[in-house]
Amino acid sequence: METDEFSINAMYKKLRGEYIKVPWRRMTCNNQGSPKWIFALYLVINRRLYTINRLARWGGITNDTLCPLCMEANETYQHLFFTCIFSRMLWQKFLNWLSINRASNGWTEELT
Ligand SMILES: [Zn+2]
Repeated sequence: METDEFSINAMYKKLRGEYIKVPWRRMTCNNQGSPKWIFALYLVINRRLYTINRLARWGGITNDTLCPLCMEANETYQHLFFTCIFSRMLWQKFLNWLSINRASNGWTEELT
């Protein structure tokens, strides 16, 4: 005999719908970091961070797309977090601090 009892859990799942689990969900869910950091991480993961390169594409906001730190390349999220000489140096110090002996990789490799 099948019961038709009301369940909050079943209703929540029905209203929420079905979504594919993304591989980076553990980086944002149950993360003990500051909400501001987690929000910035979420923006980077979804490629929504307002980098200068992205603002220039919108037009009228800025025309100078160079990275303000090194002034050598366009400021994309890949450059801002991994290929800029300053961020590479920071990544290396951070990895050394965590006793991880390898060079930093690009965004896709680090996210994986
Ligand atoms: Zn730079």
